[in-house]
Amino acid sequence: MATQSLLEPIASAHKAAPTALDHALANFRLAAEALELSADLRAMLEYPERVLMVSVPVKMDSGQVRCFPGYRVQHNTSRGPAKGGIRYHPGVTLEEVQALAMWMTWKCAVLNLPFGGGKGGVVCNPKELSAGELERITRRYAVGILPLLGPRQDIPAPDVYTNPQVMAWIMDTYSMVKSEGYPVPAVVTGKPLPLGGSEGRSEATGRGVFYTIEMACEHLRIRLKEAKVVVQGFGNAGATAANLLDAHQALVIAVNDSKGGVYNPQGLDIPKLMLHKEHTGTVVGFPLAEPISPEELLALECDILIPAALENAVDADTASRLRTKIIAEAANGPLTPAADRVVENRGIFLIPDILCNAGGVTVSYFEWVQNEQHERWDAGTVNGKLERAMKEAFHEVLDIHMERRVGMRLAANMLGVGRVAEATALRGLYP
Ligand code: NAD
Repeated sequence: MATQSLLEPIASAHKAAPTALDHALANFRLAAEALELSADLRAMLEYPERVLMVSVPVKMDSGQVRCFPGYRVQHNTSRGPAKGGIRYHPGVTLEEVQALAMWMTWKCAVLNLPFGGGKGGVVCNPKELSAGELERITRRYAVGILPLLGPRQDIPAPDVYTNPQVMAWIMDTYSMVKSEGYPVPAVVTGKPLPLGGSEGRSEATGRGVFYTIEMACEHLRIRLKEAKVVVQGFGNAGATAANLLDAHQALVIAVNDSKGGVYNPQGLDIPKLMLHKEHTGTVVGFPLAEPISPEELLALECDILIPAALENAVDADTASRLRTKIIAEAANGPLTPAADRVVENRGIFLIPDILCNAGGVTVSYFEWVQNEQHERWDAGTVNGKLERAMKEAFHEVLDIHMERRVGMRLAANMLGVGRVAEATALRGLYP
């Protein structure tokens, strides 16, 4: 099967710096190689099933009409409906959305969720938009991608700069147009609680990060109590993980955000720091701590480092200066491929992103199940199911890591890609 030429228009053919899609394809090919997948299967899994580009014309508050480019990509739906967030950002590109959709496919498969992978994005800067403009962009984009959406077809969720309110507008638009006004909550996840959102969804990613760290410490025989933790990016995922670690008596010695960092070798008071960030918008200026630069923070001696901010936050040079035993990737793609090699050679234990931060999509799945069954589960039920799912996935990845003697990144990709390849092969080729 020769789909390579088809890939070229939307793959990164001739660019100076490797893109997210280059990273995603390189990691996929390593897993495909290790799994000895046939050339036919590789071609089917590399190429996205559906790519929709839309124009989103919107009347701005000034009365002028602006057109925003938007995308929705369904990478693979062999194992279930497409699942993946919608990103609003000026830097959104089709390539990036394609890469993120592919990661979602493998992430859902690692957690054994009955979902495929999808992702969407609109090229816009929400920081420069009024609430009214944001709502009009969201509703018009939702209409643009409506042919793909549906609780059994494609279920979006929040991603960078989209939130429960944006999901509520998408749900309302879909319900009005496709269901004659009757509500269809299961068409999106990450909704506000009164519209059928799930208990535990907002902390799910950080909670999942915490469970995988617990498992890694158990495996490496590191005592969580008094283990030293450093968090880059004290946002939703990073702060939730830090708070749970603090509650289990780990010492969170340094954290930062986009404005700066704070350090206390005796351990920061995380509940107080969360309140400080809530009031001031940053961790900077927190009493009983010293300021710390981003470079110094990453080079601190610790047991657990949690990159929870941006893609490509750790390059090979930074990786050579890390002094940690465990890296828990709360963020998506925080290590460059070159940093990956350095980390592996240095024997640092990696909890890869498609495992570490999969708590969010797992509770999204729970939300979808509750909506489809007209049920509401309490927080204890949701968190208990999340803990079991994360720990089972961790064990499965660890088994591949140990038995096949491969790095944790490749092990996770082998599990995810392997499950999708198996489903694709079993379904066979239609017609
Ligand atoms: P968030 O916006 O709540 O938090 C991000 C934090 O990173 C903010 O505090 C921000 O100030 C900080 N930050 C930005 N630039 C920084 C820099 N250069 N140095 C240090 N800190 C910086 O976002 P989030 O939802 O916590 O997401 C964080 C990461 O986790 C992203 O990569 C996201 O894709 C990934 N993720 C999140 C979820 C989720 O459900 N929230 C799920 C899966 C993956």
